[in-house]
Amino acid sequence: MNKSVCEHCDSSINLTIIYVDEIPVTYCKTCKVSLFSKKRSVGRPSIGITKKVSLTLTKDDWEQFDAKAKHNRSFFLRKIIVKSLNEEDPGENR
Ligand SMILES: [Zn+2]
Repeated sequence: MNKSVCEHCDSSINLTIIYVDEIPVTYCKTCKVSLFSKKRSVGRPSIGITKKVSLTLTKDDWEQFDAKAKHNRSFFLRKIIVKSLNEEDPGENR
């Protein structure tokens, strides 16, 4: 049987498993809390995880999308996604 320790600080107290990129990662409660509060502190995370997504849209939709996104599709999508994620959280609404 594996003895689990926190990925962050090697503590074995209050361990929790979080799925990052579908891989289970073990964190202690302290590290988990600090990771989550970091994630929520600002709407614009300075360090992120990049994942590839395939998106199918009609030609018209792509044209509209590109017109709105200017030269930065990623930025445009991130803005929409972060906004919609924040809206789901009733505590974060202003
Ligand atoms: Zn830890």
